[in-house]
Amino acid sequence: MSVPARIVIVGGGFAGVAAARALRSLRKGERAEITLVSRQNFMLFTPMLPEAAVGSIELQHIMQPLRAELRVNGGTRRGSHFELGDAIGVDLERRTVSVRHPLTHDVRLIEYDELVLALGATDSTMGVPGVERFTVPLKTIGDAEIVRSRVIGALEVTAKTNDLLERDRLSRFVVVGGNFTGVELAGELQAFLHSILRYYPGIDPASVEVVVVESSDRLLGHLPEKFGKYAASVLRKRGTRLVLGREVNAVDPHGVELKDGERIESATVIWAAGVAPSPLAKQLGIKTNEHGAIETGGDFAVAGTPHVWAVGDCAAVPRPQGGTYAPLAQNAIREGKLLAANIRARLGGKPTKNFRYSELGQMASLGHRNAVVELPGGRMLTGALAWFAWRTYYLGRLPGWNRRTRVALDWTLALAFPPETARLPLVDKGESSFEDIHASSR
Ligand SMILES: Cc1cc2nc3c(=O)[nH]c(=O)nc-3n(C[C@H](O)[C@H](O)[C@H](O)COP(=O)(O)OP(=O)(O)OC[C@H]3O[C@@H](n4cnc5c(N)ncnc54)[C@H](O)[C@@H]3O)c2cc1C
Repeated sequence: MSVPARIVIVGGGFAGVAAARALRSLRKGERAEITLVSRQNFMLFTPMLPEAAVGSIELQHIMQPLRAELRVNGGTRRGSHFELGDAIGVDLERRTVSVRHPLTHDVRLIEYDELVLALGATDSTMGVPGVERFTVPLKTIGDAEIVRSRVIGALEVTAKTNDLLERDRLSRFVVVGGNFTGVELAGELQAFLHSILRYYPGIDPASVEVVVVESSDRLLGHLPEKFGKYAASVLRKRGTRLVLGREVNAVDPHGVELKDGERIESATVIWAAGVAPSPLAKQLGIKTNEHGAIETGGDFAVAGTPHVWAVGDCAAVPRPQGGTYAPLAQNAIREGKLLAANIRARLGGKPTKNFRYSELGQMASLGHRNAVVELPGGRMLTGALAWFAWRTYYLGRLPGWNRRTRVALDWTLALAFPPETARLPLVDKGESSFEDIHASSR
């Protein structure tokens, strides 16, 4: 009997998990040992992160444990191996990946016959001074906890502050970036503030403000203009201030400075302005494009690097009509599936296929039971129906009935009860913590 091919997938996000899942269902005669390496033992369902940040969904409920997802049982036909760890290097000659365990810091080498890089993306500060230190991104589960903790912390301090300028700064929440993440977060944040201010009788709701700063002159730049206009009108009606067509020059403990010199005072600045492909790709000496994404062929094989494949946000996968596929979960999932078929084809000596996919429409939730959905043909669905469509679609995309049931229950409970206002005391430590920013601004 032939020796099973060792397929190592680095990255347990949408692309990596889709690939591992598809590889798991091997056909008769195919043999492979699949190992998924990831720095967390769960897959994060990012489309629900803005809602989780404001507590409408329990954070745990959008985290799918990878061991359960992969049916880890020792690498038989139905299961896969899982290695918790950070891939810190790849030896392309010897075909090994060095993986450091995040808890023990032990480094071990994993051998591969085929290597899949599904590393995703990280936040990009776009070189703006102060972003790393004085803003919170919204990319990880920890970020969501910190956003929530800062928002509630700011209200707690406002409630006991008499200094009018300080109250003003504390009760302004700035979201930098007006694309999907920024718009969804602003909508959810506005709704969250609206429903919890009743517990802060000393704070005038009219003095609390959410501001979205976006460098282009409209929101939701990846969608046709009418979508951005609709989102803008909904957010404005709710009192969100939109600062469009203006760029952030720097962020400091007091707030945001725009390139034209205007300042927006704020103790809570959330950075949703950009992502960049994982920096590991560049460190590996693999060919990357000007944005740092790994250059692949249409079949995901990394150019000039045999036995290495790349998918998802870390990869620049060419579109047949020119350009590359956008960093979206829907692309990452489809790429992961085809990648699995291509690896099987390669192992079986058959030709691989190029990725061809027309994105389904995109959608953004706007909070307060409203959303904007792009239908086929560029048509637009808005309001409660769009909100229902958003929820139904993403509920169905959550991995497994366990997560789906928990999130559906969270949503049901959120319709009946007010949101939680407890602030977890330990999540926001370090020099860019709320306490630190608050102290250094005085
Ligand atoms: C707030 C937010 C909302 C979003 N909403 C939507 C949406 O509504 N619709 C949509 O289509 N897309 C959405 N996206 C984009 C979507 O999340 C990404 O396109 C998708 O996650 C890409 O999948 P991926 O597998 O390439 O990367 P990821 O899902 O980011 O997974 C990469 C994984 O690799 C791990 N990893 C990275 N480096 C290493 C290493 N060196 N060693 C080990 N493990 C490593 C990471 O920890 C992570 O688990 C959203 C993103 C965010 C942040």
